[in-house]
Amino acid sequence: MRASVYVHFPWCLAKCPYCDFVSYAEERDNIDHAGYADAVLAELAARAALFEDREIASVFFGGGTPSLWEPRELGRVLAGIRATARTAADVEVTVECNPTSLDRDRAQALVDVGVGRVSIGTQSLRTDQLTYLGRLHDPAGARRAIEGALACVPRVSTDLIFGLPDQSPEDARDQAAALADLGLAHLSCYQLTIEPGTRFGELAKRGRLPLADDGAVAESFLAIDEALGARGLTHYEISNYARPGEEARHNLGYWRGEEYVGLGCAAYGYSRGARYRNPILPQKYVQGAAAATEESREPLAPLALLRERIMLGLRLATGFDLDDAGRDLGIAPWTGERTKTAAQLEARGRLVREGGRLRIPPGAWLFTDDTAARLF
Ligand code: SF4
Repeated sequence: MRASVYVHFPWCLAKCPYCDFVSYAEERDNIDHAGYADAVLAELAARAALFEDREIASVFFGGGTPSLWEPRELGRVLAGIRATARTAADVEVTVECNPTSLDRDRAQALVDVGVGRVSIGTQSLRTDQLTYLGRLHDPAGARRAIEGALACVPRVSTDLIFGLPDQSPEDARDQAAALADLGLAHLSCYQLTIEPGTRFGELAKRGRLPLADDGAVAESFLAIDEALGARGLTHYEISNYARPGEEARHNLGYWRGEEYVGLGCAAYGYSRGARYRNPILPQKYVQGAAAATEESREPLAPLALLRERIMLGLRLATGFDLDDAGRDLGIAPWTGERTKTAAQLEARGRLVREGGRLRIPPGAWLFTDDTAARLF
């Protein structure tokens, strides 16, 4: 069976005001690079049984900012994973990077330890927008990081955030086009969302955060789709575009409901019918790593898993096969209610049903969450 590995690195140079990932602001020199790698390797050893009968198709170092991690230490963890698990011959190894911790030398150092793909957090090519987002880099720094990576890393992706206050659809479109024109074969374009518990969330609660107009956000989504489509990048998932064959295999695994072993502080894992989460505080994680101490563990009932498959599968342009999902989970998916709802959604142009396969037609992607929820 196919599975993947996710490794969380929980530190960043600063905390962005919109970010609700577990990440702690820290100077690079204050991080115990080797100690954290030792802890992840100890957890890996404790979780070795999860790798039995599994082939690892992808390894993803996320965060936080894993490009801050000494490449030698990140490489030690990667080597440990390769020694513990059966990895596919073409295993995809991705590292999330920020422009402030990625240049040509660092990109090469990552390649030297076995990394084949980087995903760079550009977010915007405009100084005023980067300032609003609390980012530490400027547009020139983002371009330098991308060009440095393109010079030596086989596969390079970058992230763009749209839906910023006062942003026109033309501005969103032009930035996406400019990034594609740098030669990137993969782009992730995320709508800015205001999450509770973040600095933006607090400001919004008090009515002190300027927000984008919903109509302009929807138009930006469509304008980006058009610009990237014209450049040969397929809109294969709501937020992701790729040239054929350049899709993020790791994320495809999530969207298809495949297992992933999570390692590191605050990492989630989903394996053998249960979801677990590791301790959220780095010190607590490091202390308990050798025993794979968990913050929480939740067995997942087939119906909960089916709902996840619906929610995630509908994000893909190709959709997913509800019959296959039901067979996999040992559950009859076509209840009378769901059949009726699917027919209604189809009649409204929100859903396409071909046998057991369900997908959202491109014109209805803006309603995906609502469509998925109706099918629960
Ligand atoms: S760099 Fe990324 S992970 Fe770190 S705080 Fe900013 S958005 Fe969050």
